[in-house]
Amino acid sequence: MSDVNTKIPYKIYLNEDEIPKQWYNVRADMKNKPAPLLNPGTLQPLKPEELAPIFCEELIAQELDDNTAYIDIPEEIQEYYKTYRPSPTMRAYHLEKALGTPAKIYYKFEGNNTSGSHKLNSALAQAYYAKKQGLKGVTTETGAGQWGTALSMACAYFGLDCKVYMVKVSYEQKPFRREVMRTYGASVTPSPSMETAVGRKILAEHPGTTGSLGCAISEAVEVATSNEGYRYVLGSVLNQVLLHQSIIGLEAKAALDKYNITPDIIIGCAGGGSNLGGLISPFMGEKLRGEKDYRIIAVEPASCPSFTRGKFAYDFCDTGMICPLAKMYTLGSSFIPSPNHAGGLRFHGMSSILSQLYHDGLMEAKAVEQTAVFEAAEMFARTEGILPAPESSHAIRAAIDEALKCKETGEEKTILFGLTGTGYFDMVAYEQYHNGSMTDYIPTDADLQKGFDGIPKFPGNEI
Ligand SMILES: *Cc1c(COP(=O)(O)O)cnc(C)c1O
Repeated sequence: MSDVNTKIPYKIYLNEDEIPKQWYNVRADMKNKPAPLLNPGTLQPLKPEELAPIFCEELIAQELDDNTAYIDIPEEIQEYYKTYRPSPTMRAYHLEKALGTPAKIYYKFEGNNTSGSHKLNSALAQAYYAKKQGLKGVTTETGAGQWGTALSMACAYFGLDCKVYMVKVSYEQKPFRREVMRTYGASVTPSPSMETAVGRKILAEHPGTTGSLGCAISEAVEVATSNEGYRYVLGSVLNQVLLHQSIIGLEAKAALDKYNITPDIIIGCAGGGSNLGGLISPFMGEKLRGEKDYRIIAVEPASCPSFTRGKFAYDFCDTGMICPLAKMYTLGSSFIPSPNHAGGLRFHGMSSILSQLYHDGLMEAKAVEQTAVFEAAEMFARTEGILPAPESSHAIRAAIDEALKCKETGEEKTILFGLTGTGYFDMVAYEQYHNGSMTDYIPTDADLQKGFDGIPKFPGNEI
């Protein structure tokens, strides 16, 4: 075990005073900026005042800011960050040994807080700005439940009301997630519900539907815009969320820099793109400025393949088609992923920032099948000890595959991946895997075409 005697520790921690005090906005270094959000009625770029009924003012400013590279993290947010950050950058010595690879594998672990994921990094920021604006509360959707939990925690901390619309299939599969949110004071409603006009419409058109993030977003937006003092907040996809999540990459880079470690390959799972966008931001900044080069890989489920099989077009972010249009890799807002796909990463679209970077060839994407993901999850649990979230395990799968390639070629590549969270609430999925009842559902071209047919058609938006 000569590796263990080298100077690189298992856990590279930063000190509390080394937690970044500014977020990094990768858009500032992008030559091709992500396309602006459009008003679906006029097809013109949305102005801040048009977004104001939906989002908090300060968050709108961050959403539309393509030019400021560094944005100060307010002190109140830094104070809470200190309770669970810095998160460790880990060297996966045990996994490397089990694989017999010459590759050096590092992972940034974001599961050390009660939400069990990186989502708290943005939830705190969004709740803070809502409180600062004097609002009463916020509404949101949650799929697997991590975002709803993180937002409930942040709202409890800043003293805000929190209404969560939870995708029905996970509401039923994960009753304990719901109780955690209620412990923090949030109200939780299974979506689609009969409480909103859009929920009633979706239920009339698709009776018995198990819901989707797109449906839940429509409901949460409707409730926010029809209640005085409420705004809607979103846990992924948006530019502002990637900005807040840049803390992941900034910390990881600072930790690796301490030991002069430069990753060759950076890997993250991609649902709406927030953890991946956050992890890669400072590295991508160097790449965009021509200072360094990295191979960056987004990993998505084969059952919801936005990057690898989607279209790059303006589309709605929600099933109810009431949200702004975003230009992104999308499967169409009516695409509802198979309910037998476990965990998150079920959103039909992808961050506009990552979509533009992918379109410009600055990063790669790959889709992986569900049983292969759980095989990797189990190997990781048995070697590194941490029970990974199914979402995170997509990144583990890809990291293992790259490490196995190194074993064949003898290359000592350095791999960094994002371990976004823990899987304690995902034991139904683990059970299916252990019982052999887990399936690898992959949508057919005809299935995907139905989603593509719903992408809005207007000049310049041909698919
Ligand atoms: C939400 C979530 C993801 C996926 O969301 P992104 O916005 O793509 O990061 C991944 N892992 C965990 C643990 C999550 O909670």
